[in-house]
Formats: sequence, structure tokens, C-alpha cells
Amino acid sequence: MADVYNWQLGRDMAYRFGERDTQRQFAAVFNINRCIACQTCTMACKSTWTFSPGQEVMWWNNVESKPYGGYPRHWDVKVLGLQAERDPGGQKWDAAQADGTRAPYGRFDGKTIFETADQRAEVATGYLPEEAEWKAPNIFEDAATGWSARGTQLPEHSGWFFYLARICNHCSYPACVAACPRNAIYKRPEDGIVLVDQERCRGYRKCVAACPYKKAIYRPTTGTTEKCIACYPRVEGTDPLTNGQPMETRCMTACVGKIRLQGLVDVDTDGQWLRSPENPLYFLVHEEQVALPLYPQFGTQPNIYYIPPRWVPRAYLRQMFGPGVDRAIERYTHPSRELLAVLQLFRAAQAILFSFKIERGDKVAEIRVAGRQQDIYNDVAIGYGADGQEIVRVSVEEPFFERPGKLNSI
Ligand code: SF4
Ligand code: SF4
Repeated sequence: MADVYNWQLGRDMAYRFGERDTQRQFAAVFNINRCIACQTCTMACKSTWTFSPGQEVMWWNNVESKPYGGYPRHWDVKVLGLQAERDPGGQKWDAAQADGTRAPYGRFDGKTIFETADQRAEVATGYLPEEAEWKAPNIFEDAATGWSARGTQLPEHSGWFFYLARICNHCSYPACVAACPRNAIYKRPEDGIVLVDQERCRGYRKCVAACPYKKAIYRPTTGTTEKCIACYPRVEGTDPLTNGQPMETRCMTACVGKIRLQGLVDVDTDGQWLRSPENPLYFLVHEEQVALPLYPQFGTQPNIYYIPPRWVPRAYLRQMFGPGVDRAIERYTHPSRELLAVLQLFRAAQAILFSFKIERGDKVAEIRVAGRQQDIYNDVAIGYGADGQEIVRVSVEEPFFERPGKLNSI
């Protein structure tokens, strides 16, 4: 085991490999305040990558209802339970240790899945889901109360729930990579995308057990593991559809709720994001700190970030996203001018936006939000592509068009 710096935990941690040479990292922000569980993202992924025999229960993208939905069933409850068992009373944060971008959420004093692992048998604390747990995702998840048709009693909703859209996190310290005895899984230095080499994979399923997010999935017809490939031909700009420009993945671009913004961030030699406040993802994660990693305490430094839902009990959200939750919700509820403008860029274009600028506009409204006065300005967010070319411009206020007197020729 080597020591690596995990900025989401605000400390060094043990990992099988030392710092890797990742120059850029695939990342995304999901604003789950807006997710409606339409599953368009899920079907966009399925119809592109996992429609073949042996992939019937394989969902690289899934959307589950929280608090008790999950694919595979109860994945997070199980991993959290194992962690609590092996680190009794230890899974705690010290938010007072927060320190800029080096430790934005403070310091996690508990042990990660790598640090609680029984080193004789595994590199990360985990479990192998049973076959049945991968089947029937979403079934009965939105039932508020009562008995399911299968005779299982479900826990009761207590007046709140939300939808958690999930893909592989293309983690900076992937448990799947660390667990593979054949080194068949690798992280690409050019974009941090994590891939399984199908020639090397022997289907031992060590990655399936180790991935705390359960996003490495076994395919019985090939006897190998498969996982989200981050639509890498689109991200590279080599897919014919992209016209040579880096383009967001299928699940991102299909999102009906406009909850997703995906991109690439530059990474420093110590694994931290290079300061680039003009990159929309860096801006949301580090400048505004409005988007947070999912279960950062697992220790894999996941790269999908979430704007937490405002209406959910804070204790639940703090367990899920760490101690940055209160600040993130406060900033989302009362957004700065810049944040309000950047939020308009979600799903405004298919090309990856590498930077943005804001053109200031007139004040157009005074509103009250959660008891506080807020001025709204019609600023314009402009998104730029890989070569600095303008891709899109969106205003805060919805544009107003007046119909001409003569509508059409009919
Ligand atoms: S989410 Fe799981 S499968 Fe994806 S990179 Fe992280 S550990 Fe690997
Ligand atoms: S397409 Fe967007 S809104 Fe619909 S389920 Fe997926 S993430 Fe949610």
C-alpha cells in the first residue's frame, strides 16, 4: 500500500498504487433537485452499450429512489454497514479542519474501504451482490407504504424522497483497479476514464466486490466484467457524430430534466484539480462548493458531484455527501449572480464546455426566497469549447419572442 492524498477526505490515505499520472479527469455535476426519474438517461445508455445477450440486468446508468431504493438492492446500506462494523464509532468528520481546495469538507477521521480491508483476503472492504440483487431495479421503489406483490414489507416513506442518478464515478483511486489481480482495469492518463481490458479480464469479480458503488458488473455470456466506458469516443471527439469536438456522454446529453453537466478538469501531479475557476465544473465544485461527491468516506475520490436536494433531512444528506451539505444547500437556495448564470449552462449544448464567461445584464426582478430578498439579473452565460471557440450563450431570463401577425402560409 502507498500513501496518496485524497482532497475529498482532507488527508493522506492508503491505496494499492501511488499517485498516477492523470493529466485530465472526466467529471460531472448532477443537480438532483431537478431529477424526475424519467430514466431517459438510463435508456440512452442501454440502447447504446448494453443491449446484447448477457447484459439484460446490466445498467451502467441507473436512477434510484432514495431513501430505500438501490441497484443492486441496498448497495449503499450494505457498504455503510460493513464500514460501521469494521470501524466502530469511527466514521466521523472534523469539519473544523476545512482548508480551501486542499480540504474543502474538513478532515475525515474514520477509515476508508481500503483502510478497513482484511489485507490477507482483499484490498477493499466490500461484498459480492447475489444474482437476485441486480434484478428488477426500481420495482416498488416509489410505493409510499404497504406490501409489495412479492410479500416483502417495504419501509415507509416519511414524506420525502428524491432520485439519485448514478453512473461509474471514474474514481481517482478506483477500488475496481486496486482489486484486480490481473491488472485488467486501468485508468487512462489523458482523461481519467476507467476501463476494463476485456482480453485480460478473467471474470474473477474482485472488482465487483470491491467497487463500493457497485458499478463494475459481471456478464455471464462472456465471463468478464463490464462497466461504464464514459462514452469515450464522444469524450475524445473521435465518434463521427462529434465533428472532432469533445462531446458529452449519451446519458448526459439525453437528460430531460437538464440536471447534468459533464466535462474534463485539469489535474495536478498530486491528484488535486488545477485551479481553473473558468471551468464550469471547477467553478461548481471548488469555487461555489455547491456540488459534492457521493459517499466521499469510501475513499475512492469519486468524480461525479451532486447538488444535494434541499428538502431532505440534513443528517441523511450529510451521511451521503459529507459535511459540505449545509453550505451547498445554502448557496443553491440563494445563488450568487455567477452561480445562477452557470446553472443555465446545464444541457445547453452537447459539446463539452471547457470554460465560461458571464456578460452582465440588467436587473429584472426582486424576489423573496426562503425569507430572504434576492435580486435577479438577466446575465448571459457563454460556454466555450476545447479550442476556445464559443459554443453556446444562455440568458438567465427566458427569451421572449412575439409571434408575427401572419403565422404561416396555411
Ligand atoms: S465507481 Fe466503482 S467501477 Fe467506477 S471507477 Fe469507481 S470503483 Fe471503479
Ligand atoms: S434523464 Fe435526467 S431527469 Fe431523467 S432520470 Fe435521467 S438524470 Fe433524471
